[in-house]
Amino acid sequence: MNASPLVARLTQVKKRIANFARSCERDPVDIQLIAVSKTRPAEEIRIAFEAGQRAFGENYLQEALPKIRELADLPIEWHFIGRIQSNKTRDIAARFHWVHALASAKHARRLSEQRPNELPPLQVCVQVNVSGETSKGGVAPEETGELTRLVATLPRLRLRGLMTMPPAGSNEAEQHRIFGALRKLRDRLNAEEGLEMDSLSMGMSGDMEAAICEDATMVRIGTAIFGPRQ
Ligand SMILES: *Cc1c(COP(=O)(O)O)cnc(C)c1O
Repeated sequence: MNASPLVARLTQVKKRIANFARSCERDPVDIQLIAVSKTRPAEEIRIAFEAGQRAFGENYLQEALPKIRELADLPIEWHFIGRIQSNKTRDIAARFHWVHALASAKHARRLSEQRPNELPPLQVCVQVNVSGETSKGGVAPEETGELTRLVATLPRLRLRGLMTMPPAGSNEAEQHRIFGALRKLRDRLNAEEGLEMDSLSMGMSGDMEAAICEDATMVRIGTAIFGPRQ
């Protein structure tokens, strides 16, 4: 495959992130780019890595495991951003550095129990269903405190922050409302519960500008880097 279009898109995305950050008076170094490589072959991940990208996000364990194996020679930071299923927690705990969409106490306990001892604690964001859509994963805002408190006490997990996604097709005002609500929830839980959440995982190809202006620390970008998925 010809590397240059992919590398050009990656460069363009990094520029856009930096420009959005500056327009909101933020320092671009405070925003980590997670390249979402679901459906894309290991070969393309290698090209992005060679162009300087270190963090990659995958949604489906069965798809991710062979790619992680194939790329084991590279010091990639792997982020599991998909919905968690109970029968997949062992492999998630063993193969990934971060989980973005934790949404149940049961999965939190399993991930902590199954995180191999020789690895550092698994970095965790709790997914919050801010919009209240029934089809959406995540815990309700009013239940988030209970789950974040639990994660903070589990020995093999490290609570890092919150994650959310606005409804598909949201306009910019709606995106700001949802991302802003996640930031306020994070700040309130830190203050009231004595938690130390430093991360907000929010922003995809279509809504990264609003997310960055609402203090995202990690944006999860697929299409804008790798092109449209089939
Ligand atoms: C697919 C996916 C992304 C990336 O979406 P794009 O619109 O392709 O940038 C981000 N986060 C999650 C949870 C996803 O499933």
